[in-house]
Amino acid sequence: MGQADELNETIILGSGPAGLTAAIYAARGRCCPLLIQGAQIGGQLTTTTEVDNFPGFAEGIDGPSLMAEMEKQARRFGTRFLEGEVTAVDLSSQPFCLSIDQDLHRCRTLIICTGASPKMLELPNEWELYGRGVSVCATCDAFFYRDKDVVVVGGGDTAMEEATFLARFARRVTVVHRRDALRATAPLQERARANDRIAFRWNTVVAAILGDKQSGVRGVRLLDHKTGEETEMACDGVFIAIGHTPNTALFQGQLEMDPQGYIRTRNGTETNVPGVFAAGDVQDPHFRQAITAAGTGCMAAMQAERYLETLAAGAGRKEEAV
Ligand code: NAP
Repeated sequence: MGQADELNETIILGSGPAGLTAAIYAARGRCCPLLIQGAQIGGQLTTTTEVDNFPGFAEGIDGPSLMAEMEKQARRFGTRFLEGEVTAVDLSSQPFCLSIDQDLHRCRTLIICTGASPKMLELPNEWELYGRGVSVCATCDAFFYRDKDVVVVGGGDTAMEEATFLARFARRVTVVHRRDALRATAPLQERARANDRIAFRWNTVVAAILGDKQSGVRGVRLLDHKTGEETEMACDGVFIAIGHTPNTALFQGQLEMDPQGYIRTRNGTETNVPGVFAAGDVQDPHFRQAITAAGTGCMAAMQAERYLETLAAGAGRKEEAV
């Protein structure tokens, strides 16, 4: 571990809607936040197309633009940004210590907004073919599938969004879903169902992705688990949209989590360690919306501010007693 920097009032981990909203509030509340941007700058919304349900944008806004605006707003109030990823944390005593690259950073309050990462199918060659036909981001990769055939796996909002976006480019999009009913919300379902380039394979899972490193994906083997029938389907791309895993490995053993690894919070965004707050998808297995992430980011900053006030009041009382 390298040199420690000055003691920060507040460090925020993550640059999605929760982290940036926490930064806006913490900076305005004079908590001088340092925001560590993490592996995916701007968070999951940077891989989303149109965001139609974030209040204030009557005509919708694309995910990257929304995040760019939030970042500008956080910078306007003096948030300091640091590119990098935290590799270790020590939350056992005040001040908290974080290792970022070779450096040690200390803080009195920590706001964790590390979000969640896309789940994979756990098929043997899926990482080998990642970027060679296997993708988790239609916004990033759809362009490469002009007039080609692709499969989207999943039945939630993400799968419907990915399928609809891909259908602008691809010749045929097949949604492969393990049940016979979609989990996605009505408007996204309806939009996908109404698109004649999108077909559905129900009660079906991807048993294998066919292809190799040199030539990429050439198809999938599908298993209809109601009939037991296996079929091969030619395709050029497989987009996996089956949900997310919270990014909490760093905090294992230090913060209370639920069985899925989401950080447990109470009274808003408090964790079991006083001075450590969690906001956004990292603590939310239910709603996982940009607006709810932003809401909890605001709560975390306000709670951090109050915590800093109680720390300062405690220090003042100690000085008086000397
Ligand atoms: P999700 O709602 O958890 O849906 C995951 C889908 O993948 C489900 O249909 C699930 O099947 C399927 N699945 C899970 N594990 C699987 C596996 N191992 N093999 C095959 N299929 C599997 O995840 P999401 O779609 O990413 O959405 C997450 C949250 O973000 C939701 O709250 C959603 O509303 C929100 N979101 C909103 C928007 C928007 O409003 N524009 C866009 C994207 C996401 P089952 O249905 O059988 O469980």
